[in-house]
Amino acid sequence: MTSFKLTDEQLECRDMARDFCQKRVYPVTRQLDEEGLPDKLVSEMGELGYLGCSIATEYGGMGLDPFAVSCIIEEFAKANAGLATLMAAHLSLGCKSMELHGSDEQKKKYLPQMAKGAITSFCLTEPNAGTDVLSIQAKALPESDHFILSGEKQFITSADIAKYYVVFCKTDKGPTCFIVDRDTKGLTVGQPEKKLGIRSSKTCPVHFEDVKVPAENMIGQPGKGFRIALSVLDYGRLGVAAGALGIAEQAFAEAVDYTQNRVQFSQTISSFQATQFKFADMRIEIDASRYLLYHALHTAMSGERFTIEAAKAKLKASETASYIADENIQMHGGYGYTQDYNAERLWRDARITRIYEGTSEAMRMIVGGFCAKK
Ligand SMILES: Cc1cc2nc3c(=O)[nH]c(=O)nc-3n(C[C@H](O)[C@H](O)[C@H](O)COP(=O)(O)OP(=O)(O)OC[C@H]3O[C@@H](n4cnc5c(N)ncnc54)[C@H](O)[C@@H]3O)c2cc1C
Repeated sequence: MTSFKLTDEQLECRDMARDFCQKRVYPVTRQLDEEGLPDKLVSEMGELGYLGCSIATEYGGMGLDPFAVSCIIEEFAKANAGLATLMAAHLSLGCKSMELHGSDEQKKKYLPQMAKGAITSFCLTEPNAGTDVLSIQAKALPESDHFILSGEKQFITSADIAKYYVVFCKTDKGPTCFIVDRDTKGLTVGQPEKKLGIRSSKTCPVHFEDVKVPAENMIGQPGKGFRIALSVLDYGRLGVAAGALGIAEQAFAEAVDYTQNRVQFSQTISSFQATQFKFADMRIEIDASRYLLYHALHTAMSGERFTIEAAKAKLKASETASYIADENIQMHGGYGYTQDYNAERLWRDARITRIYEGTSEAMRMIVGGFCAKK
């Protein structure tokens, strides 16, 4: 059995993120949920290096390994899952597309900016292409030394504040990936969706109308965009699993705390065996999620392909987050149903982790398909 003991450096990263969240995020988490993220907080995260923590030091990032990055995302998710979503989508999807598939010139140009906090959105989903990503309709037509992009992207995380957009469009060679600057003529960002949860993170449509993009902005080879998207989504799913784990840990801690203080029948609710049996089931599910995530991180760090491991980790952690957040409300009784406690927000925030970056059904297709392979 592989040992998943965190190194001193990984623990230090986790503790620094925990400390930052305790001071800067927890006290205002309800406000972030209601009003969105203030620019000041996002720039502060950029200045402190959180928005470049996974980027190599040669490009101005912190060069942290996937375990350390996962610990940081988990800490942010405990405090505010919308903020963790912003960070994970920027790092694991936007920046990762450039890190894994960009040319040397592209990396030198874009990664240092991204590491300092130039938010990068990942534009794959379309109104008629969700789970079935191969059916995207956005087009990129070649014209001399550039491409003309047109189409509609849907549900794009942080599109409202992004400086760069990693965009997947069809060319005559198949799906192809481009990086597009926010200031490019013809690119417009629509109104944020009114969402159930992760409300501090904005999710918007992005419209491309005859957007002229230089050929040098193509990431990777023409027709290889789908391969890029899939490789990056493996990292994205590690980020979602880390965020889901953070929500689950937070909901569990709040359930224990509340029941240790709430007295009914002249004793604390936590002293009832029925409650303790629930704690046992909850703790085991969280630990199982953590082991699957750490196994996936370990596989990623060993350089092996980790698609199956990431799918298992994302599926387990996201379903666990929903279960624990739901039990947390139950243990709070009527108070859990009100905005006086975090329980209702954690429950709303947990729900998205079973949908974005591949639904639970899509994760089962990946894992089940692998199991059925001869
Ligand atoms: C808050 C939020 C943020 C997001 N951020 C981004 C982002 O930054 N970038 C981006 O590109 N996208 C983003 N997305 C999109 C997200 O990844 C998609 O919503 C998700 O992949 C599902 O696609 P869909 O919504 O079109 O659902 P659909 O694909 O229409 O699926 C609807 C239901 O049918 C099920 N289903 C579909 N096909 C099958 C099948 N073959 N077998 C069994 N069941 C099936 C699904 O599992 C799901 O339950 C975001 C979405 C949200 C809500």
